[in-house]
Amino acid sequence: MIEYNSICINCGHEKIGWNSLCSFCKFEPKTRRELCESLVLSLDFSVESNEYGNENISKSWGELLSIGNEIKRGDRFVNFLARDIYLAEKQIDRFAKISFADFVFGVIVLTAPVLLVLVLLVFLK
Ligand SMILES: [Zn+2]
Repeated sequence: MIEYNSICINCGHEKIGWNSLCSFCKFEPKTRRELCESLVLSLDFSVESNEYGNENISKSWGELLSIGNEIKRGDRFVNFLARDIYLAEKQIDRFAKISFADFVFGVIVLTAPVLLVLVLLVFLK
């Protein structure tokens, strides 16, 4: 069984991953606004709350499906709340920050053995 968790903002079809390509209409969110709207129409929509993790603030899957049906009927207008777009933007920025931290961590992990070998070579001479 396919585990859909997002609705395509272009055609209303269910899809996997809010920022992924829609297999139905081939639409892929690219602009910041499209990415924000896509995240709002996803079960992944969450807000940073406290040290225990993020609070999920997404609509229920039933609500998302009915929004999807409205889009499918050609009623392209989805009333996005300014607050939702703002929070989606914050979440996207958080993803960007996490991937930068992952990059730095990756560099440290990869260079540490090399540095260790260099240090050993210097001290063993
Ligand atoms: Zn689509």
